[in-house]
Amino acid sequence: VLVLGIESSCDETGVALVHADGAALPVLLGHALHSQIEMHQAYGGVVPELASRDHIRRVLPLTEQVLAETGRGLSEVDIVAYTRGPGLAGALLVGAGVACALGAALDRPVLGLHHLEGHLLSPFLSADPPEFPFVALLVSGGHTQLMQVDGVGRYTMLGETIDDAAGEAFDKSAKLLGLGYPGGPALARLAEQGDAAAFKLPRPLLHSGNLDFSFAGLKTAVMTQANKLGDQLEARKADLAASTEAAIVEVLMKKSMTALRQTGLRRLVVAGGVGANRALRGQLNAACAKAGVRVHYPELHLCTDNGAMIAMAGAMRLQSGIEQANCAYAFDVKPRWPLDQLVLAT
Ligand code: ATP
Ligand code: MG
Ligand code: FE
Repeated sequence: VLVLGIESSCDETGVALVHADGAALPVLLGHALHSQIEMHQAYGGVVPELASRDHIRRVLPLTEQVLAETGRGLSEVDIVAYTRGPGLAGALLVGAGVACALGAALDRPVLGLHHLEGHLLSPFLSADPPEFPFVALLVSGGHTQLMQVDGVGRYTMLGETIDDAAGEAFDKSAKLLGLGYPGGPALARLAEQGDAAAFKLPRPLLHSGNLDFSFAGLKTAVMTQANKLGDQLEARKADLAASTEAAIVEVLMKKSMTALRQTGLRRLVVAGGVGANRALRGQLNAACAKAGVRVHYPELHLCTDNGAMIAMAGAMRLQSGIEQANCAYAFDVKPRWPLDQLVLAT
């Protein structure tokens, strides 16, 4: 079965082709991506209407590119998978509209997917794919969650952020340090030259006794520290970046280890944009090695949004038999869509 995947939930247009053969793990044949980051940079954040319009411009050329690169024709596509939510309504409508139009034109079924399930299953595209069950640490620009994952579609929320997401904490702190948007990767780069012990920043909810997160206070602490430094900020920027990163990473690492202890599971899967962070990977690798836990990540270039994870999630949902693609080309999108309501909500 050849699955075409389309992602357009935020500021990346992604298209991919995945091949599923029987019960074997589906294989990525090719994918193409266009990031709108440069377009939104001037505004310091994603401008929803500009995002929608750019998705319209990019989605068909990217589809043609993937088909050309994989040597496949559109008529060979068996199923069209797209991101149904959560995300920006206008942006989601572009991918959903194009997917359903392609489905109708090709007389093929379509499947609307959960963006976070895409992130969650993206490590199955890596050279070292996980096996169920596992604890998942989902750390993206909009979400921070620990989940118990027993199989495709079997997700139990263990804890989540009560305010900002981890990616948001990176981005907002980076903005305070004048590192542009989205500043997460820039802050991480700068942090490599800094001293993580230079500033004492809060580890919110570290000892809360549950698996919830909070990052809003950290951003305020970074701001207070930056103001206090005044003229010296420029000289101490790398130290402040390193201290900020260390605070975020320590909380993510420790809560992940607690989740593993509480569930008794021996496998951790990290997904989402912040999963690309080197300090986080380093700390998780060390802690998991010590605890005898296997840890899996998506390929670095598949941590942030892409079409491959949507095609993969579509292929794995079909394979697991929990869902069938359908030829009802009337679509809706779900800008807000909790992952643990996924099965009920379809
Ligand atoms: P969601 O998936 O929750 O809807 P999103 O799609 O915007 O949100 P992703 O694309 O998964 O989020 O990830 C983007 C986030 O990852 C941004 O906040 C970005 O700063 C962060 N990020 C990417 N690389 C790194 C890195 N190396 N270190 C820290 N943060 C990073
Ligand atoms: Mg993005
Ligand atoms: Fe995402």
